[in-house]
Amino acid sequence: MSVLVLNCGSSSLKYQLFDMRDESVKAKGLVERIGIKGSRLKHTSFPGGDTVRDGDISDHTEAIKIVLSLLTDKKTGVISSLGEISAVGHRVVHGGEKYSKSVLVDDSVKRSIEDCAYLAPLHNPANLAGIDAMQGSLPDIPNVAVFDTAFHQTMPPEAFLYGVPYRYYEQDKVRRYSFHGTSHAFVSRRAAEILGHPAESLKLVTCHLGNGSSITAVENGRSVDASMGLGTSPGVIMGTRCGDIDSDVALFLVEKEGGAARTNAILNKESGILGISGISSDLRDVVAAAGEGNERASLAINMLTRSVAKYIAAYASVMGGVDAVVFTAGIGENSDIVRGLSLKKLEFMGIKIDSEKNEALHGKEGFISTPDSKVKVLVVPTNEELMIARDTFELSGRG
Ligand code: ADP
Repeated sequence: MSVLVLNCGSSSLKYQLFDMRDESVKAKGLVERIGIKGSRLKHTSFPGGDTVRDGDISDHTEAIKIVLSLLTDKKTGVISSLGEISAVGHRVVHGGEKYSKSVLVDDSVKRSIEDCAYLAPLHNPANLAGIDAMQGSLPDIPNVAVFDTAFHQTMPPEAFLYGVPYRYYEQDKVRRYSFHGTSHAFVSRRAAEILGHPAESLKLVTCHLGNGSSITAVENGRSVDASMGLGTSPGVIMGTRCGDIDSDVALFLVEKEGGAARTNAILNKESGILGISGISSDLRDVVAAAGEGNERASLAINMLTRSVAKYIAAYASVMGGVDAVVFTAGIGENSDIVRGLSLKKLEFMGIKIDSEKNEALHGKEGFISTPDSKVKVLVVPTNEELMIARDTFELSGRG
C-alpha cells in the first residue's frame, strides 16, 4: 500500500514514501550532488528522525539503491521489505503534446520522454535516468510518469500558439506548454472542494508563486491559458528568471553577449528578482531590504505584484469572469505582502481583501477575501508529491 514518489534532477533526487491508506508520508529525503564530488543524502523517517549520509554517489542508480536500503533498514526504515512498495511515481517535466494525463511507463512512454528531451534538456534525461534506475532495482513494480505539462494540454490553439510562422509549430512543436501543471491541478481541485462547488462549474485563476512561478486560468476544471511558455522563463518575474520580455531583448543580448548559451544563463539565472534587486533571488531577503529603504528591492516587488495583477485580470477576461483566485507555493502561501499588493490593484474587479486574515495566513489553507468579496481569494498549500502518489496509486491499480 506504499507509493514511492521520485523527482529526479540532473544531479539531485527528491523522494517521498506515502502510505496510501491514509495518504501519510512515511519517509522523505533529498540526495544532492549526484555524480559530483561531495554527494550528500538527507533521509527523514516518520517517526524516527533525520539521517545524513555524506559520501560520493556516482549516478541515480546508486542513489536509488541507497534510498531503498534506507527505507528498509532496521534503524532508518519505515517498511519491512521492498515488497511493500506497490508502485513508483515519477515527476517528468515534459510530456510534449502526447500526454494530457499521467501514464503507466512502458518502452514507448520512455521513447516519448526521450523524444521531447530537446524541449527540456536539463530535466527529461534526469527523469528518464530515475525511471531506468527504478526499473533496474525493482523490475516487477509499475512505474507511472506524471508530467508537469499534462494539465495544460487542454489549452486551445489561440492560447498556445505564438505569432511566428505556423510551420515552426508543425515541424518543431514550438508552442506554449507551460509547467507546474501538477500543482495547478492539485490546488484548483482543492479550491473547488473548499468552495463547495464542482470544479467543472468554476472559473479560477491559480497563482503558483515560488522560485519558479506560473499563473493559470482554470475554467471548468481545465487549464485554458497559462503564463509559462515553450520554456520556463516567461510569465511573472521569478527568483532568477526574467518573466515576459519581448523577443528584441533576447536578440539584443545574443548580439551583445556573444551567443545563445550566455543569453540563456542571463535570462534564467541572473534575471528576475535577483537581477532587478541586485540583492537576492529569495523574496524574504528582498522584502527585508525594501523595508530598510532599498529602492531596487521595492522595484522588484512592484514588478512582481504588478504582473501578478495583470495576469489575474487578463485571465478573468479570457474566461469571461473569475469566481476565485488561488495562491500557492513558497511566495503565494507565505507572502502576505505580495498577495496584498497584487490584489489591491484588482479592487475594480470586486476583489476585497481582509487584511488581518491576509497578514495572519502563512503556509496554511484559508480565505483571505472578505465574505462579501465578489471574487473569493484563497491560499491553498500545494502538494505535488501527493498528487503524483494519487495518480500512481490509481493507474498502477495495486492496492
Ligand atoms: P521552488 O520553486 O524552488 O519550489 P518555493 O515554492 O519553495 O520554491 O518558493 C521559494 C520562494 O518562497 C522564495 O522566494 C522564498 O523567499 C519564498 N518564501 C518562502 N517563505 C516565505 C515567507 N515567509 N515570506 C515571503 N516569501 C517566502
